Amino acid sequence: MKVSQLFTRTSKNVPADETAKNAQLLIQAGYVYKVMAGVYAYTPLGLRVLENIKRIVREEMNAVNGQEIIMTSLQRKETWEVTTRWDDEVVDVWFKTRLKDDTELGLAWSHEEAIMEMMQQFVKSYKDLPTSVYQFQTKLRNELRSKSGIMRGREFVMKDMYSLHATAEDLDKYYNKITEAYNRVYDKLGIGDDTYVTFASGGAFTKFSHEFQTICDAGEDVLYVHREKKIAVNEEVLDDAIKEFGIEKSELEKVKSAEVGNIFNFGTEKAETMGIYFTDKDGLQKPIYLASYGIGITRVMGVIVEKFADDKGIVWPESVAPFTVYLVRIGGEEATKHADELYEELTAKGIEVLYDDRDERPGVKFADSELLGIPHRVTVSDRLIEAGRYEYTLRSSGEIAELTRDALLAKLS
Ligand code: ATP
Ligand code: MG
Repeated sequence: MKVSQLFTRTSKNVPADETAKNAQLLIQAGYVYKVMAGVYAYTPLGLRVLENIKRIVREEMNAVNGQEIIMTSLQRKETWEVTTRWDDEVVDVWFKTRLKDDTELGLAWSHEEAIMEMMQQFVKSYKDLPTSVYQFQTKLRNELRSKSGIMRGREFVMKDMYSLHATAEDLDKYYNKITEAYNRVYDKLGIGDDTYVTFASGGAFTKFSHEFQTICDAGEDVLYVHREKKIAVNEEVLDDAIKEFGIEKSELEKVKSAEVGNIFNFGTEKAETMGIYFTDKDGLQKPIYLASYGIGITRVMGVIVEKFADDKGIVWPESVAPFTVYLVRIGGEEATKHADELYEELTAKGIEVLYDDRDERPGVKFADSELLGIPHRVTVSDRLIEAGRYEYTLRSSGEIAELTRDALLAKLS
């Protein structure tokens, strides 16, 4: 992709109506366009990052036999009445609307009940179990406050997965597999070292959940962590957890964190409420064991920006970066010819290059490459061509080197 062809522009001005660093930088660099508080559109650059995050999540969900689907944003009132969750007193983030004949509809804030209702039509017998489905979907939530940029949207993208099982043991095994898959996801996203699993009880002993929390100053949650032992505890269960882990409170560090995912084990409670039964080997009707597993795709993108950005701009981990290389051309005809060729060559090798082919001052190009956070920068100029070298810069460390063509290609592949 050539910078001259991108319809987005970078901006030097920090948007006045944004206090969150992630939103400020993403808007300035042209990754997102703010429509209103908590509602952001994604440009080609932003979409590339989202797609990279989704690819990492999708690979892991497919590896545990998840089947990808896509549900609808319009939902029936009756779907949610079964569990009392149509009630605004029970769920306080609903956006609701009506058909022309006055039929009430909900705009999906979650797809839990909707997916269970659908699965019920297909899963009838023990032979149909276990099974699991997942989707990447926009959720619409009338959040009271939305001041954390894309980390708390009123419209945001979530990956949600649901698994159905015949027995508690089978669910437990799968739940543990998902926990491991989630850890791999956060590792691949570059935030694994700072992401902790915390336990939250759901009341009944069969019903519990775990949160995946990433240490992040812009997060809205508070965690107590033991970095060496990789233990993290929520404020609500602090005293119990201290006993369980056999540690002192003074050993724990209080940090701010963002919930980047969570997983719920419903036991049979949800199935009993919704009337979701299967026929077992002996012909008996039994409630299905259910679990759900969420990851905040757009929130993760915000967390990554918050965690790695420096005073020059965004710093993407290579796995999610919209492009791998930012190619800067400085100079006239000769440099253009040389840079064009390098662009073609790298692209042909499958390396994703954003080529700054504009007639701008070098300083402008360098500043943009830093604001955009592309991992590797390569500069071609008349002086460098004469010396038979390329200037190479690593965004994350600022490391700078003049490399031969072979050394450069080795770095980038
Ligand atoms: P929170 O406590 O942050 O409101 P939640 O308990 O409502 O989260 P879930 O409904 O379980 O979250 O959603 C699953 C995941 O979706 C969360 O772990 C989080 O990463 C993400 N998420 C939830 N709400 C938002 C939001 N308003 N904007 C962006 N991501 C969100
Ligand atoms: Mg919420």
